[in-house]
Amino acid sequence: MSPEIANRIAIYVELVLTALAAFAVAFWLGLAVWTFRDIRARTRDPIAILLATALALAFGPVGVLLYLLLRPKETLAEQYDRALEEEALLREIEELNLCPGCRRPTKEDWQICPYCHTPLRRPCPECGRLIDLGWTICPYCTADVTETAFEGELPVEESVEESTEEVPVPPPTEAEPPLEPKPEKVPF
Ligand SMILES: [Zn+2]
Ligand SMILES: [Zn+2]
Repeated sequence: MSPEIANRIAIYVELVLTALAAFAVAFWLGLAVWTFRDIRARTRDPIAILLATALALAFGPVGVLLYLLLRPKETLAEQYDRALEEEALLREIEELNLCPGCRRPTKEDWQICPYCHTPLRRPCPECGRLIDLGWTICPYCTADVTETAFEGELPVEESVEESTEEVPVPPPTEAEPPLEPKPEKVPF
């Protein structure tokens, strides 16, 4: 082997090593940039962003591996989407008016679940509009609708209806006309 060929080989080896070193540096920096972008998508905490990027810069692939183990599971966009989904699901359940007893959908104007007989709503003893079982005051007519007041009211309501049907309305008595006030007679 002539010294010229040996020289040439040395130059090639040096070139290859330089290229490899350049690639290693670029790869190292690329890892840091990727980590910076990734952590920024997952948190707004500046200290966490700084630490993660420093970890990738200082330890390269090992640092990134550590970061991958420790990073927040969800990106901020994923967190936002999940929050929206949960909200939509809750709204859907509310709209379905699920029976608390059997979880079947019920209608807004039902007083009792037809499947499991769980009471759902009750009519206000004053205005008759449907109100929730737990309410103590009617939001429509402001009547006191505590449980005890309501339980005493229901049979009374029925009896009142029956009595109005059976008992005829008494005819107006003759004593009524004199009861009317006559302002003309008031002396001044
Ligand atoms: Zn039910
Ligand atoms: Zn009412």
